[in-house]
Amino acid sequence: MSTFRILAATLLVSWLGTLSGCATTTEGGAVGADRSQLLLVSSEQLNEMAAQSYAKLKADAARQGALNRDPAMLQRVRTVASRIEPQTATFRPDAPRWNWEVNVLNSDQLNAFCMPGGKIMFYSGLITQLRLTDDEIAMVMGHEIAHALREHSREHMSQAIAAQTAIGVGAALLGLGEGSAGLANAGYETLIATRFSRSDESEADRIGLELAARAGYDPRAGVTLWQKMIAAKKSGRQPE
Ligand SMILES: [Zn+2]
Repeated sequence: MSTFRILAATLLVSWLGTLSGCATTTEGGAVGADRSQLLLVSSEQLNEMAAQSYAKLKADAARQGALNRDPAMLQRVRTVASRIEPQTATFRPDAPRWNWEVNVLNSDQLNAFCMPGGKIMFYSGLITQLRLTDDEIAMVMGHEIAHALREHSREHMSQAIAAQTAIGVGAALLGLGEGSAGLANAGYETLIATRFSRSDESEADRIGLELAARAGYDPRAGVTLWQKMIAAKKSGRQPE
């Protein structure tokens, strides 16, 4: 990389930092979740990456006969999602218009996630093994959707970019300008295997609780859900 490109990259970084570096992704809602965030990657780039990863995950699951095996369970999960989705407007006016997708993966894992842009996956084991009620499903759903509304993955990726050297940052940013191939390759692992920070988790808990309550679900399910999670952990099953 020439000195000029390094300089250009550095300037680009400081320009991004000045113009679009820090912002909040959501309105505060009743719970006041509007902390300022470092955001160096665009929502569009990350949503595109998420959509591609989600499509691949679905295709892989379908090939293994593990996608939406139980129509009644799928209906329950989709009903909860359809009640929560309109409530996202409290935090983000754009979110109800996202291309939401909700599916159930047949798996023993105690897991669920919502990728950037509203791509939701519930693992059947979470519902069957913990015998989740609709209210408890709503608590999980609200929490996972909150990660997407607050764009925690985008924030993490931005922090990773900012932490690199000037050359690394320049390469990443110049690479981004040439298309989303680099981002797409980072794919599944980056978005699903992300370990959110404790502050991200408590933010997601607060927003998730409000979303579920606004959708008409009983917020006390947050307590029973945690009791079930703790019991599962004690018996050696690790909830994500
Ligand atoms: Zn979480």
